Amino acid sequence: MPDLKEEIELFTDEVISIRRNVHMNPEIGFQEFKTSSLIKDYLNEIGLEVHSNIAKTGVVGILHGKDPSRTVLLRADMDALPIEELNEISYKSRNPGVMHACGHDGHVAMLLVAAKVLARHRDKLKGNVKFVFQPSEERDPGGAIEMIEEGVLEKPHVDYAFGMHLGNMFEKGSIALKEGVFMAEADSFKINIDGNGGHAAYPHLSVDPIVIASNIVLSLQTVVSREINPIEPVVVTVGKISSGDAFNVIPERAELLGTVRTLDRKISEVIPGKIERIIKNIASAYRGSAELEYKFGYPPLINQAEGTKFVKRIAELIVGKEHILEAPISMGGEDMAYFLQKVPGAFFWLGSMNKERGLDKPLHSQYFDFDESVLPIGVEFHVKAALEIFNK
Ligand SMILES: [Zn+2]
Ligand SMILES: [Zn+2]
Repeated sequence: MPDLKEEIELFTDEVISIRRNVHMNPEIGFQEFKTSSLIKDYLNEIGLEVHSNIAKTGVVGILHGKDPSRTVLLRADMDALPIEELNEISYKSRNPGVMHACGHDGHVAMLLVAAKVLARHRDKLKGNVKFVFQPSEERDPGGAIEMIEEGVLEKPHVDYAFGMHLGNMFEKGSIALKEGVFMAEADSFKINIDGNGGHAAYPHLSVDPIVIASNIVLSLQTVVSREINPIEPVVVTVGKISSGDAFNVIPERAELLGTVRTLDRKISEVIPGKIERIIKNIASAYRGSAELEYKFGYPPLINQAEGTKFVKRIAELIVGKEHILEAPISMGGEDMAYFLQKVPGAFFWLGSMNKERGLDKPLHSQYFDFDESVLPIGVEFHVKAALEIFNK
């Protein structure tokens, strides 16, 4: 009878092949129809209780343990990003303009294989395991909050929740996390600028929204640098500028899209007022006008103390103490935060960088890919966490 690590290693090819299959067929948030049916079929095949169409495309598998009153939730997100893959690999995205550039393909594969392994050991489970395949992590409002609203934390009631994220900022095979605030609140905004279009050669007869937009982009940086206490981490980024169609025309309008990241809702709450004051005054200084639409996004992700300790204890069994790292706070947002607002648990990075093989591109890069040899480590974490969580 092989031990768990050896048993999981037998599934290495399978976890890689699921990952590549999902990678080749990426789908964006709430449209993960193929991914969802692949997950559903797999969970049915291994004999789990399966619930689908939760938050549109979400799937939940349940394995029942000896004690029906205790449940641990293991979560994988499953959506891709609306970007074009530039990797030249055999398992390159076959869906133009859509790419798994955030490792969610790996998350799905690891949790599916963990479910399969745990199904073989269901007699050893003290409590229930809920395998949660969540849609739309990348797009606000996200699948987590919808799944919670549709009751994913009840029937059976969830006591703990754990999730992981692949990341090339850490060496392959390391596990990195931090107690307390771990990831940022991720808000988004849209600024509509109205000018008055005309001929590019007669600017005095127009109000140029591109000049207004350019000034706004630069001035928005002073929200962070001049208006927020420098000991508070805040990011304001304009990620998209749209305006104009021709080189010799002053357009009517410009639109800016951006994001604000903070570690504290109290800070986030003062930001829209500051942005609004700056954009309205700049626009009117240049004879135009500007309107702000601001949307509060995922809350900061907070790793609770007991959950963080538990992750470290399980990680030590798998990768050894020397590969457990104290992760810095990430200004990225994660809607796993909603689960951790409701139940204790933790979220962590599974390092997947392999510099020699060129697998060191950041998440969301068109060249993102990760070292697949870490997938069995993630599987082992899920399996051991589920077996150990109710072993006091
Ligand atoms: Zn992402
Ligand atoms: Zn992600």
